[in-house]
Amino acid sequence: MPVSGDSAKATELTPFMRQWTGAKRENPDALLFFRMGDFYELFYDDAVVASRELQLTLTARDRERQVPMCGVPYHSVEGYLTRLLRRGFRIAICEQMEDPKLTKKIVRREVIKVLSPGTALDAALGQEQNNFLAAFWERPAASPSGGKNKDTARVGYPSQLVSQAGIQVVCGIALLDVSTGDFRTAEFAGPAARAQAVDAILMAGASEVLLPASAEVPAGLDRLAARTRVEDWVWTHDFAAPLVERQLKVRSLEGFGLVGHDAAAIAAGAVLHYVRTTQKNEALHVDSLRFQEHSTALELDQVTVRNLELVEPLFQGQDARATLFHTLDACCTPMGKRLLRGTILRPLVDAGAIEPRYEAVGEAAGDLLRREELRRAFDGLMDLERLLARLSLDSAGPRDVRALGASLAKLPGVRAAIGMMQAPLWMTIAARLDALEEVTTRIAATLVAEPPLTMADGGAIAAGVDAELDDLRSVSTTGRQSIAAIEERERQRTGIGSLKVRYNSVFGYYIEITKANLSLAPTDYERKQTLVNAERFTTPELKEYETKILTAHDRSIEIEKRIFAELRRLVLDAAGRIRRTSAAVAEADLLACFAHLAAGRRYARPRLSEEPVLEAVAARHPMIEQWMEETREGRFIANDLFLSAGEDGPSLLLITGPNMGGKSTYLRTAAMLVLMAQMGSFVPADSLRLGLADRIYTRIGASDNVARGRSTFMVEMTETATILNTATRRSLVLLDEMGRGTATFDGLSLAWATVEYLHAETGSRTLFATHYHELTMLADKLPRVRNLRVGVKEAASGIVFLHTIEPGAASKSYGIEVAKLAGLPTAVIERARRILKQHEKQERQSVQVETEPEPMQLTIFTPLSQRIVDRIESVDVNALTPLQALNLLEELQQELKDSRE
Ligand code: ATP
Repeated sequence: MPVSGDSAKATELTPFMRQWTGAKRENPDALLFFRMGDFYELFYDDAVVASRELQLTLTARDRERQVPMCGVPYHSVEGYLTRLLRRGFRIAICEQMEDPKLTKKIVRREVIKVLSPGTALDAALGQEQNNFLAAFWERPAASPSGGKNKDTARVGYPSQLVSQAGIQVVCGIALLDVSTGDFRTAEFAGPAARAQAVDAILMAGASEVLLPASAEVPAGLDRLAARTRVEDWVWTHDFAAPLVERQLKVRSLEGFGLVGHDAAAIAAGAVLHYVRTTQKNEALHVDSLRFQEHSTALELDQVTVRNLELVEPLFQGQDARATLFHTLDACCTPMGKRLLRGTILRPLVDAGAIEPRYEAVGEAAGDLLRREELRRAFDGLMDLERLLARLSLDSAGPRDVRALGASLAKLPGVRAAIGMMQAPLWMTIAARLDALEEVTTRIAATLVAEPPLTMADGGAIAAGVDAELDDLRSVSTTGRQSIAAIEERERQRTGIGSLKVRYNSVFGYYIEITKANLSLAPTDYERKQTLVNAERFTTPELKEYETKILTAHDRSIEIEKRIFAELRRLVLDAAGRIRRTSAAVAEADLLACFAHLAAGRRYARPRLSEEPVLEAVAARHPMIEQWMEETREGRFIANDLFLSAGEDGPSLLLITGPNMGGKSTYLRTAAMLVLMAQMGSFVPADSLRLGLADRIYTRIGASDNVARGRSTFMVEMTETATILNTATRRSLVLLDEMGRGTATFDGLSLAWATVEYLHAETGSRTLFATHYHELTMLADKLPRVRNLRVGVKEAASGIVFLHTIEPGAASKSYGIEVAKLAGLPTAVIERARRILKQHEKQERQSVQVETEPEPMQLTIFTPLSQRIVDRIESVDVNALTPLQALNLLEELQQELKDSRE
């Protein structure tokens, strides 16, 4: 968000304000937090913005009240920064670079870092969440990439132009979580490249996206509050690749799979450049990069992630416990929680990676004692990645390092507990887990058990680490004792019992005497300061002690900081090992979590198959089942599911039945089984046989997008188009109530044609829930389509939902019954029943569905009036006898009468 600093006219400025203007000019688009003693002050437009956003009182610095100003105390600045960052602001922190006590001139100040939503270490960020900074770059597809061919690799090819002209693009994205060092990149090509790239950024929940200065914002990314422009020259291969290589300490990006993927490398370079320049730090903890190839993960798009409530509830404000993440989260460590979330969004597609997980989960699930031992070993293990990142970015205090040490000290226990297991994956993880004993020992030996918050407070380094430090400490201890002795002696000498010897940072040590006792003050006391009720003095002796103590204190802080810096360097030298170990801990935690769920919730081990099948016995929806268990509200009814994209099918299940009957739940259950199985978890079913899916598509409910200028129906059709254009035989497709957003006849026709297309063209395993009963006729015509219906019992008091899924088509839709349950006025219900009766009668008389040669004649929808008009029109009046004409008239009249009964 731009904040101008031009309000200050350079000529009229005091030296102090000139300093401010200089810093502001360098960071025109950031709010400048300008350190002045114990406060951060903001001036001019920044002050106006900050006072509004943070509810601070706006004051003025100068007498003429021309310079608006507001400020926050330095010790509570974190909270204010977090609030501003969450709203998408950038903030430049300008610090005092010298001790004001030691300089007579104006204190030197410098911007030490620029914070933005994507780079901030937000203390309030949930431990299971990542805070990703993203970068987006694209170039036309046909040509080689930036840096090499500058004409065609124009930075930020205008998105409108590309789509209108049908020019295909290659998009590179990068995602970096500075707070953990998690660094990924990906590249997209083909007709949907841009949409997929945007989707990947949104799905990762990025809080800021970097774009080339001259590029247009691609549709979708305009939703992110923080979009930051980075100069065009950064987005070239010649600049980016060497930067990434230097960061990763490699000579070529080959080992990271990035050769031939320069769009991805350019995006990665832009992210690194931005972090290094804004943090003024090399971010040493960022030492590896994952190139995410699409074929290595089960693909999910943003619509599906949202519809299936994988990590966030469908609607804002809804209970987060409804999500799959929450339902499955039994992880013990923050790293494990993040991996679980990441795995839900990026399940596996390779049986070679999935089977070993089943093996490991199975072993731990079957052995309560060893499983619990492992889970207990994680106790007290804090966020290694975040602690390391804080240290690397120079934001860590002694308590953070102590916490890191305490967490590292748990590693031998974790390794031993994993070592008790035998499955090959457990053994691989144990081998990857480095217990880092020498780092642990060094931290424990260097820092005291309970260090102060900052190094400036002193006392963080343990006794015995440095001989000079120990000596200086004893000087200041004896000095302090002497001060206490002086106080006691002066009380005796003056006879003033309330006399105090105290210290403050401005006046140093002083003797304080209340006004009432002032007459008793000895003549050798030198007056220092006058307060309302007291007078402060000093003496030559006190001054001497003061110098001794303060010098000793300052020197010892200096030594402590040096030792801490050495310790920091030692830990950072082991950063790569810590990060690898952290990843191993996360994986062990994830597998232990899956095992815990499998054992506690009767989840079954999936059987993977080469055939494209999805066969489940007694499948349950994990979130609803869990919710019912917790609230004790009923019991989940398990259902079977048989789908196959093979020759004999069925590849498409048409599910009909009343609202609230459980159709959507059945569809979602299928998705949950596939997703969980491909995460390497056991699944909520008695058994599951699965041919791995390449992608899950969903078109569920009405996700209204009016705010972005697309009607509900348009959104529905766009989503359906994506499915029909890109689904394969290995995909799982869920379509719920397709066609509901438009007129019945249009909707039914579209739904009908879609079923035929899915059946004939994509062949994907598909679940299609619908209220269009007419569609059930397709099961007779298309060999791989089967009808299923939800079970209902008609009781005297109304309908009862059985939540069972059975073969066959529903005979009625029960819409009016459900409306009655919902409490619609009786008059409306009765009237609706009468209208329905008439309608059904007409249909019985006139419906003739022809499926050949056209798949469906519109006769089934044709309204009565239209049919009568058609008949009259089709009669050759000249060929009719008067009697025939009379008979026809009577027939038509009768038809009209019947319809009104
Ligand atoms: P609509 O057509 O109105 O969308 P629907 O047929 O899709 O309805 P669902 O939304 O799947 O119905 O289910 C309605 C409710 O019924 C769910 O919220 C859930 O509480 C309950 N339910 C669904 N399936 C089951 C089941 N198998 N066992 C127990 N309860 C279930």
